[in-house]
Amino acid sequence: MDTNTAGVEQTANTGQLPGWDAVDEQVLEAYRRNRESTDGVVADYIPILGAVDPELFGVSVAEVDGGVHVAGDADVEFSIQSISKAFVYALVAEEFGHDEVGERVGVNNTGLPFNSVIAVELNGGHPMNPMVNAGAIATTALMPGATAAEKWEHIRSGLSAFAGRQLQMDGVVYGSEAETNQRNQAIARLLQSYGRIDGDPLEMVDVYTRQCALLVSARDLAVMGATLADGGVNPVTGNRVISADVCRDTLSVLASTGLYERSGEWLFDIGLPGKSGVAGGIVTVAPGKGAIGTFSPRLDSAGNSVRGQRATAYLSRALGLNIFASGVHGSIDGNKQGSTP
Ligand code: GLU
Repeated sequence: MDTNTAGVEQTANTGQLPGWDAVDEQVLEAYRRNRESTDGVVADYIPILGAVDPELFGVSVAEVDGGVHVAGDADVEFSIQSISKAFVYALVAEEFGHDEVGERVGVNNTGLPFNSVIAVELNGGHPMNPMVNAGAIATTALMPGATAAEKWEHIRSGLSAFAGRQLQMDGVVYGSEAETNQRNQAIARLLQSYGRIDGDPLEMVDVYTRQCALLVSARDLAVMGATLADGGVNPVTGNRVISADVCRDTLSVLASTGLYERSGEWLFDIGLPGKSGVAGGIVTVAPGKGAIGTFSPRLDSAGNSVRGQRATAYLSRALGLNIFASGVHGSIDGNKQGSTP
């Protein structure tokens, strides 16, 4: 992965963020150093997504104390798309608990594209994980609610609690995907044939399509992610959304599956759980510290925002977020030499 971080030193992960001004400066720097890039292409398999302004670029960091930093187009709204899967999974895990949702939906990477039908076949109808479409549609079907309309209302209010404000659905994005989502309908029918989906499969695809059309900004993603970093309490509103155990479970799922087929490279380069969506958003969580939200519509070949990945890679290094980056105990800068035996 081209992270555009040559010369940027990895700061050791110390357990806390640097002070407010330092984070503010680094958020701006993450924006500045990647602003000019035009690498990648905008998704257009959902026709309306192709109409976006590709120059839009926003970066935000929300801290677990409720402070939010922004740079660029951090308040421009776009459809959440696949990033919704992370938060719907958290809401369902809250209802069903670790073991049952783990067994019903799974937590392993398929190694295949997010909308793969073959992955379902290869795994005997098991959806494998909630971040690919098969697992996400099966997860949406597990949301509380006797009808599709009730499930949808629970999803909308649940994701709004994560964001700390009422999220609205973009009717045009929903309509554009609803007209062209035959593949997701086929996946849902296939799950039905294996007895792996509750309820009417096409109604569940419809609810899933609505959840993907919810509008968020980079700032919203940062706050939603910071709720997962803060033991399930939204740090801006102070309201508990889910339990700390569910945060832990959700982040472990994201660590192995959040960035499509690039999830391994992402963990290698950035070292944090994250989730991306085809409209160009990425949310990345630093447990106990905060979260990064980015928006930039041009994507790499796996469907991940190019500038979003680069801005996040920069912040992971500069702010010392990578969960694998330790320093030597007791040293100030984490780089003290140990003694040789
Ligand atoms: N609504 C999109 C789909 O199901 C989401 C894709 C994505 O963001 O990965 O195809």
